Amino acid sequence: MVNKERLWNHIMELGKIGESTDKKKGLTRLVFTPEEDIAKNLVKSYMVDAGLTVMEDAAGNLIGKRIGKNPDLPVIMLGSHIDTVFRGGKFDGALGVLSAIEVARALKEKDIKLSHTLEVVSFTDEEGARFSTGMLGSQAMTGNLDRDMLERKDDQGITLKEALTDAGYDPDKLTDAQRSKGSIAAYLEVHIEQGKVLEKSDLSVGVVSGIAGPRWFRITLRGESGHAGSTPMDLRRDPMAAAAEILTHIEAIAGEQRNTVATVGQFTVEPGGINIIPEKVSFSLDLRDEDLENRRIAEEKIKETIAEIVDRRGLEVDYQLLHNLDPVKCDPVLVKLALEASKKREIPTTTLVSGAGHDSLNLAGIAPIAMIFVRSRKGLSHRPDEWSTKDDCYDGARLLYETVLNVDRELQ
Ligand SMILES: [Zn+2]
Repeated sequence: MVNKERLWNHIMELGKIGESTDKKKGLTRLVFTPEEDIAKNLVKSYMVDAGLTVMEDAAGNLIGKRIGKNPDLPVIMLGSHIDTVFRGGKFDGALGVLSAIEVARALKEKDIKLSHTLEVVSFTDEEGARFSTGMLGSQAMTGNLDRDMLERKDDQGITLKEALTDAGYDPDKLTDAQRSKGSIAAYLEVHIEQGKVLEKSDLSVGVVSGIAGPRWFRITLRGESGHAGSTPMDLRRDPMAAAAEILTHIEAIAGEQRNTVATVGQFTVEPGGINIIPEKVSFSLDLRDEDLENRRIAEEKIKETIAEIVDRRGLEVDYQLLHNLDPVKCDPVLVKLALEASKKREIPTTTLVSGAGHDSLNLAGIAPIAMIFVRSRKGLSHRPDEWSTKDDCYDGARLLYETVLNVDRELQ
């Protein structure tokens, strides 16, 4: 069986790597750094202990394999990541990799041979904190590689391409990591929720029904600057006042739809003087929903509202699309098998939407996916104090174990 203490010890042990001596600063494990290297070696040793055959693909994804009775069947893949954001915590990513290894170890200890080959993957650079990128490993594996990101630089001016080369990888051969559609029977990922739904519902774990796709814009409003003292209110074309009006509408429009979320996280005002009416205001918009149509409707409403406000105030507006990922539905069969597993193990659960993107988003392009969320204390993540309890982590791992058995049995 999945071993609660061992799983917890692994989480704590891995969580020491990259940890600052100042606890408030959490831990930082960025891609292609000594900390990541040490962490990878530790995870590799856990994989070996779990009876997995370990290899690394062309994109640096660490893969542990347990050959099935019928090696011709597509594989069941479990995974997540071990890189972190700057000053992150012990659970984001690590929990998924370590739960997957624990499942493999439990299979070994019970001497259960699955029909499918099982692969446990620690994906390269999911967070993308060092180069402001993300999901390098899963992009390469799914043939989704954004080659422009190889030119992005870290704080020191080193490009991702250079870092890859220094770490011994060939940037031109990243696509060797690619898997074909149909070669993966199911991709399952355990992850901390990074939200408050489970805590509010008093549940340790949840089964994800879909992953909301982010769509990012930079919206720029142009008006006319002028003297704050000598320009009467009725003669102003003030983009800042318009932005304030727009923001309240964005909040309201997202709030009208059940799963839509909209966030303005960046704001710049030019010229930015205390006694100058701004000439230009630009702000970001992050819009998400698990349903593409709902996201489209929200975007349309926001743009209609902005058009009306801009028109009324005599301003100009310009939209720049910065990033777009379509939402992904989890595979209904896998979701059903996970829910059945929770019943069998008597772990109460619910279905919920993932607001954050994960490697699963990429995997969904070539395989059926499902995710299991583990309750996050206060919904916090990407912070030193992100936390999930030992019992909750255990529930996540044993639900994964039981789900794997179901999937192996049902998908033949
Ligand atoms: Zn993560």
